[in-house]
Amino acid sequence: MTENARAGDGPVLVVSAHAGDFVWRAAGAMALAASRGAKVCALCLSFGERGESARAWREGKKLDEIKAIRRQEAAKAARVLGAEIEFLDAGDYPLRESDELVDRIVRCFRQIEPAIVITHPLSDPYNPDHPAAARMTLHARVLAQAAGYDAPGEPLGAPPVFLFEPHQPEQCDFKPQVLLDITEVFDTKRRAMECLPAQQHMWDYYTELARRRGVQLRRNAGPNLGLPHDTMAEAYMRLYPQVTEVLR
Ligand SMILES: [Zn+2]
Repeated sequence: MTENARAGDGPVLVVSAHAGDFVWRAAGAMALAASRGAKVCALCLSFGERGESARAWREGKKLDEIKAIRRQEAAKAARVLGAEIEFLDAGDYPLRESDELVDRIVRCFRQIEPAIVITHPLSDPYNPDHPAAARMTLHARVLAQAAGYDAPGEPLGAPPVFLFEPHQPEQCDFKPQVLLDITEVFDTKRRAMECLPAQQHMWDYYTELARRRGVQLRRNAGPNLGLPHDTMAEAYMRLYPQVTEVLR
């Protein structure tokens, strides 16, 4: 059986630059996988304490307090999704790329042994932390595969990498190559989003986006009959070729 054929069983690893990113962009995939019994883990490289917590700063909160709030919110969202969560507290704005941080991600790869990896696209002119997280994730994935890399655990296989949809997809060279039907878990995604009051403006934005991607999913799944539907979807790009015995 190929790696891709096994991939639907999990574990699923989602690497997120900031504490909220995985919720807006991959919560549907995470909830779906968890509902099918897969182990799902969000790895947050930072809390988004400086760059994605504007409201808390305006309220006069201090750095440590903001990190604690964001940690608590993201952990609550992960629980709603049925996922585990880990924080590396590597700092944001900027999220600095380093061999040490890549090594910590390698250790997570070796520990979780993901069948699927989900992370940010490699381009985002609005937020350099996001592509930095993606680059480190990809680097760590390759290192974790090397038999000679000095980290606990077995060498990693070749888990496919999916890139989740960024906030402004056209500017990030994002094309929705994969449309994932998340209708059955959308209420769960919405509840997870509502665990993040610091970014309340995102709740409706990502609900509308799911509806729009749902329309596109239906259009790509068959002829456009103009029938009403309530399909909700998330979009992804694939980084590596799909490996399969059957074209589908
Ligand atoms: Zn972010």
